[in-house]
Amino acid sequence: MATFSCMEVQEMVTDYLHKELDGEKRNLVKEHLGGCGDCLSHYSTEAQISTLIISSSWNQESTQEIVNRVRLRIESEPEN
Ligand SMILES: [Zn+2]
Repeated sequence: MATFSCMEVQEMVTDYLHKELDGEKRNLVKEHLGGCGDCLSHYSTEAQISTLIISSSWNQESTQEIVNRVRLRIESEPEN
């Protein structure tokens, strides 16, 4: 069975979040996220950004400001 590299998974994370991947790709991405901390943290960053963008705060700040804030918060968290 084909697997994806980390780079491929991280490129597809946004589509995965928006449920735009077909079933087979979706399962492969899901499996990879289950076993790869790097891709999982990338995924949670994207998930938090998506959540914030659709929340009510988005029209008071620019989307880019929200994205920057979430990235900073995640990058400042300890690894373990
Ligand atoms: Zn990975």
